[in-house]
Amino acid sequence: MTAPRFVEVALPLPVFQTFTYAVDHEPAHPLVPGTRVIVPVRKRRAVGICLGTVDQTGVKSPRPILDVPDADPIFAERMLALCRWIADYYVVPLGLVLRSAMPSALAGATRPTPEQRTERIAVLTRRLPSLELRDKTFGRAVKQRALYELLESLGGRSPATHLMEHLGVSRGVLDALVEKQLLTLQESVVQRDPFALRRPLAPERHVPSAPQRVAIDALMAARPGEVFLLHGVTGSGKTLVYIELLREIVDRRNQTAIVLVPEIALTPQTVDRFRAVFGDRIAVLHSALSDGERYDAWLALKRGEKRIAVGARSAIFAPLDTLGAVIVDEEHEGSYKNGETPRYHAREVSVVRARDEGAIVVLGSATPSLESWHNADGGKYRLLTLPERVGAGRMPNVSVVDLRKKKPEAATEFSSVVSDSLERALHERLEREEQSILLLNRRGYASFVQCADCGYVVSCPNCSITLTYHRAPERLICHYCLYQTPLVTRCVRCGGSTVRQRGLGTQQVERLLGERWPAARIARMDVDTTSGKWAHAEILDRVGRGEVDILLGTQMIAKGLDFPNVTLVGVVDADVGINLPDFRASERSFQLLSQVAGRAGRGPKGGSVIIQTRIPTHHAVRCAITHDYASFVAEELPARRNPSYPPYTRLVNVIVSSLAEEPAAEVAIAAADWLRQLIISAPDLPVTVVGAAPCPIDRIKRRWRWHFLLKSDHPGSLTRVLRYFLERFDVPTAYDMRVVIDRDPVSLL
Ligand code: ADP
Ligand code: ZN
Repeated sequence: MTAPRFVEVALPLPVFQTFTYAVDHEPAHPLVPGTRVIVPVRKRRAVGICLGTVDQTGVKSPRPILDVPDADPIFAERMLALCRWIADYYVVPLGLVLRSAMPSALAGATRPTPEQRTERIAVLTRRLPSLELRDKTFGRAVKQRALYELLESLGGRSPATHLMEHLGVSRGVLDALVEKQLLTLQESVVQRDPFALRRPLAPERHVPSAPQRVAIDALMAARPGEVFLLHGVTGSGKTLVYIELLREIVDRRNQTAIVLVPEIALTPQTVDRFRAVFGDRIAVLHSALSDGERYDAWLALKRGEKRIAVGARSAIFAPLDTLGAVIVDEEHEGSYKNGETPRYHAREVSVVRARDEGAIVVLGSATPSLESWHNADGGKYRLLTLPERVGAGRMPNVSVVDLRKKKPEAATEFSSVVSDSLERALHERLEREEQSILLLNRRGYASFVQCADCGYVVSCPNCSITLTYHRAPERLICHYCLYQTPLVTRCVRCGGSTVRQRGLGTQQVERLLGERWPAARIARMDVDTTSGKWAHAEILDRVGRGEVDILLGTQMIAKGLDFPNVTLVGVVDADVGINLPDFRASERSFQLLSQVAGRAGRGPKGGSVIIQTRIPTHHAVRCAITHDYASFVAEELPARRNPSYPPYTRLVNVIVSSLAEEPAAEVAIAAADWLRQLIISAPDLPVTVVGAAPCPIDRIKRRWRWHFLLKSDHPGSLTRVLRYFLERFDVPTAYDMRVVIDRDPVSLL
């Protein structure tokens, strides 16, 4: 075979989409589409992916290919086609899609090498059990004491870099505790594949319930490319259905499968259940893997040594041949949408990949996204229903505490946060040695601080966001850009000296619970306590072993947990987030409340749920209380009609941002007008433009943000308009102006 003279190559760079290179000598490896090639770019060596050969006509100044490192193409033809679809649909350069689709070890211009990394862990070596002892040890060294108490609340150990980079601890304070022999810094090998060390579970051996049987049979008889929406209430046994499907696909048909989960760290239980059945035929792709380990897992899948890829959204690019099924668990989760370019939605990519490769798709959820529900309703997807809990579980009773009816006179700090009935319920659980889960979807101690005299609220200098007050260590912090500053004691505007804390956060609830029940074992799970990638699983394992009485946390605790001894779920404030200026705010609140309520009553002891709210009549709250998905949908859908929002229309959010406010506004307005003109002049373009207007959060990380929306029922028209816009509309470069196109956005904030 003679080598082609010219090949087209895609580069993983935003500027060049494809480029033509010349092959000036016979490469050691075959140059077929999908092969990784090393090419010169601006005096550097860069990686490109060979797309195919071109003939010589019209090729301008081709460049030489420097190296062809891989004996086999890293992308199969089908994967290349999938990446082209993503590039086309989300209107992004193909090279950027290819870069997301390959393991990062292959994205560099060298060969990947496995690595072993170490990190320093700060470990408490001595405990100070009494307050007197603490006073004596620390005196006025408040920062040292804060660090000591922080480490205590983190279970006695935490990576030093996490303490310093995320929790505002200085090197000097760490050293001071070492000096006092309260702490040691231990060098330890980073445990990159914790799943390999987890104790295997025994595989489940349940006899499927009648609805499970119906679902399993339907999946066994599915047509290639068919998409199913598995709507099963919490605890209805969706995992068993997935497992039976995987047995059929992997064991009997000798095909392969992909299982997508929202976030591996939050769902170790689910992953363990798959591993129990399929053992080392599974590759678990998670963010804690090093580049080398990720590459190893990728190779094992490509070579067919592993048959099932389990992972978060990027696992949809797993290099599997003979793909038989894709399972998307908790398909409503927003984390399936990539937050940066290419902004693909893994659920949509699943459907496209499965259609091309003749695989079947199962989208599973207790609270399906309205898009998937709409697709099932219209006959595009086939609906399978698991209406009841399996085994000993029953749906929990949900009661509501209307916070508006509270008597303020008698309120203590505790009772203003935890109502009498929630307090009583928690107390009973502690006495009966049962477990409780408490949700408050707001981390930190207080969501903002305000001057009691003039009302001034401290906000971030870089973002239009109030600063959140954190304790241990004490500081104000921006949750968007991580700006930190010491707590102000005087108002910067009026000099007033009374600064109030407003808006309850998880740290404050933790403190109140600890004071009320000093003997209770309380675990807090939010971004601040889950430092290492593996911290989530450690906390959850403690809950599973019965070492935690009350698990308190943000939305992290609402996902997929299956603990039969949890008999109470309390929602401290159901209204957090429900009034965000976003068309999905109600849907997201309903999903969160339903999911967290679903953690109660999974065992023979039953369970109950108590929801505290100021808006008990809001349909997101009301329907979550009655476990009534159908009613929620019936009330929510009309709100998406006029003005129209998904699922009734396709949406694109175009965000223009720059370091100065006025130019961002001008460009956004000009771009929206330009598109309106374009659409008027082309009568066959059923696309409407809404806006421009400032984004709800109009400044993030020093960038001013404006946006406008494109709406259409015709996906193809949207693609054409966006493509034309990107090619023809001139974006000025001043003030670091940027235009981001977010197709099918999950949030408009
Ligand atoms: P879901 O994902 O729908 O919330 P799970 O798959 O976590 O539900 O199942 C809930 C619990 O019921 C699990 O502990 C599981 O082992 C158990 N289970 C599943 N199917 C059956 C069955 N047919 N009979 C008894 N128990 C079952
Ligand atoms: Zn900020």
